[in-house]
Amino acid sequence: MACVLGVRLSNYLTETLSLSDIPKYFWTDSTTALFWIKRNDQWGTFVGNRVREICSVTKVNQWSYVPGQSNPADLPSRGCSPLQFSKLAWWEGPVWLKGPPNSWPKLEIKPDEALISSERRKGTNLSVQINLNAYPNESKWYKRFSQFTKLVRFLGWVKRFIRNCQNLFVNKEPFLSTDELQESKNTLFSLVQGESFPESGNSVNGILVERDQRGLLRVKTKIIERDDDYAFRYPILLPSKHHVVDCLIREYHLKHSHAGIQTLLAIIREEFWIIAARRTIRSVVKKCVRCKRFTAKPPTTFPIQLPLDRIRDAATFE
Ligand SMILES: [Zn+2]
Repeated sequence: MACVLGVRLSNYLTETLSLSDIPKYFWTDSTTALFWIKRNDQWGTFVGNRVREICSVTKVNQWSYVPGQSNPADLPSRGCSPLQFSKLAWWEGPVWLKGPPNSWPKLEIKPDEALISSERRKGTNLSVQINLNAYPNESKWYKRFSQFTKLVRFLGWVKRFIRNCQNLFVNKEPFLSTDELQESKNTLFSLVQGESFPESGNSVNGILVERDQRGLLRVKTKIIERDDDYAFRYPILLPSKHHVVDCLIREYHLKHSHAGIQTLLAIIREEFWIIAARRTIRSVVKKCVRCKRFTAKPPTTFPIQLPLDRIRDAATFE
């Protein structure tokens, strides 16, 4: 904010030349800076400190807007040769400044609210804080999904939207690529790990772990020397109690024709290391309605006494 330099200069001059009683006017061509000064708000550290300094020395009504073309102070910052500089109006200022104050232009300016409020101090929005504290579980967006594939695809589309907004190149492919899906999965797993193992060092629950290039926690198994897939030697560590892990197990269960606990353990271990895996998988499989129907035992009843007509001795023939 160049306004601070102007205020410091004015202060220095009034003190040195003992001109404390003269009227002072301050001009800026930055509408945003002008509104920062004029509004009494909680600004961020950088802007807040400067606005405080300006307001401690000047009054808000001493500040006005001057368009960039009429602002000679802008010349050195835009750059020009010494010859041009000597001939330009930097020494005198705009022509209207020589007239009486009531003839000076009074311009209506529209503030750029987005730019101004971008400097508002973060964390002063009490309603958001209260909502977050009051409903900690409702804010988990992934709980709206019960299928792992849908969850991954949803996150994939959100990530593509964000990338398209940020980059000049807009990806309009109607399908998500394999890379996009993989990236989405990785983001999801790192989110799960971040929530479940917030302070993980070299070990989690006595399991030796290390972070891969993407920051995912992977278990250092006893078979890392084996000539096998990287994911099998270093499986991704997942917690036992997490909605996303339940969705993942259910996905494998359905994909492999309602596979049983032992089969699922082997398949999932190819890529993941779930803490207390057998118990976690069992709890998910137990909830599968279709499996429950197929493994249900047929109802049995105790044999009942036959009616008298059926147990009577037959009549004898003569
Ligand atoms: Zn099932």
